Amino acid sequence: MYQVKCIGILTSGGDAPGMNAAIRAVTRTAIYNGIAVKAIYRGYKGLITNEITEFKTQSVSNIIQQGGTILKTARCMEFKTPEGRKQAYDNMMAAGIDALVVLGGDGTFTGARIFGQEYNIPIVGVPCTIDNDLYGTDYTIGYDTALNTIIESVDKIRDTANSHERLFFIEVMGRDAGFLALNSALASGAEAAIIPEIETEDDQLESLIEHGFRKSKNSSIVIVAESDITGGALGVAERLKKEHPEYDARVTILGHVQRGGSPTAADRILASRLGSAAIDALLDEQRSIMVGVVNDTVCYVPFNEAIKDEKGVNRTLLDVLKILSI
Ligand code: ADP
Repeated sequence: MYQVKCIGILTSGGDAPGMNAAIRAVTRTAIYNGIAVKAIYRGYKGLITNEITEFKTQSVSNIIQQGGTILKTARCMEFKTPEGRKQAYDNMMAAGIDALVVLGGDGTFTGARIFGQEYNIPIVGVPCTIDNDLYGTDYTIGYDTALNTIIESVDKIRDTANSHERLFFIEVMGRDAGFLALNSALASGAEAAIIPEIETEDDQLESLIEHGFRKSKNSSIVIVAESDITGGALGVAERLKKEHPEYDARVTILGHVQRGGSPTAADRILASRLGSAAIDALLDEQRSIMVGVVNDTVCYVPFNEAIKDEKGVNRTLLDVLKILSI
């Protein structure tokens, strides 16, 4: 049996609140189990440019409450080439790293799957993305914080929407997934959510018009998921202007405000559990898997399932949203 002696940890792709809590949990659980920790800065880029430092328990003190990632993150095109990955592997070997824990989303896990296979390296992923779009885990780290940030903003926009009796399309992130839009719509009492998952089955804007945009109420808020399919909030507003010029809609794109901030309790707890589980997985001789949580139980999900399988939004929530908006 081969026992991992030294792990490398990196954060890659889009940052998410709770990444730091996960870095802390991975580092401390590794050290608790006698495994050395090497921190790799700027994701796969730092593996190629050799930005590697040893972490001790104190290296992760006072970070559980911080948003972003102390390891920095980057998008790295070179890692998509065999030459880039060869350089990454050489640096990893020189640093004495025999396994990797990667924190990120589907792009990060796609890279990890290829690299792990190519060089026979154990790699475990920790799902960190505000979009919640990874299959095999009920929640991803960062999602709950983003949801809370969104509803805080929507509450504020509602004041103006009410005062001016206006219709607002508020665009939230999601990278072609409607989790943030649907759940923030429910949590903020919005009239509707326009999400990419059902656009081909239902013309959501037309349904809204038929519904009468809540004629009895004096304002309307519709949450729109960013999406190439619907065109996001701008696309929907443009269509409305053309097809129903009687409505006067305003657009707010929340943008990167959704990525920042101190993680919520739920995200810190999830990050602590999954960070710790990532080391347990390596001790269990797992490789090429993501740790996830399903029905409050930690599970292991092969990278190719986490990346490829469609998670799907809970459609009953759409019905609830419709009922509650009468
Ligand atoms: P996220 O992990 O948030 O989905 P990205 O999609 O930007 O973020 O991916 C993060 C990084 O993962 C990329 O910059 C790249 O270095 C690496 N990566 C993504 N896809 C591949 C791939 N097909 N082959 C190798 N590396 C990849």
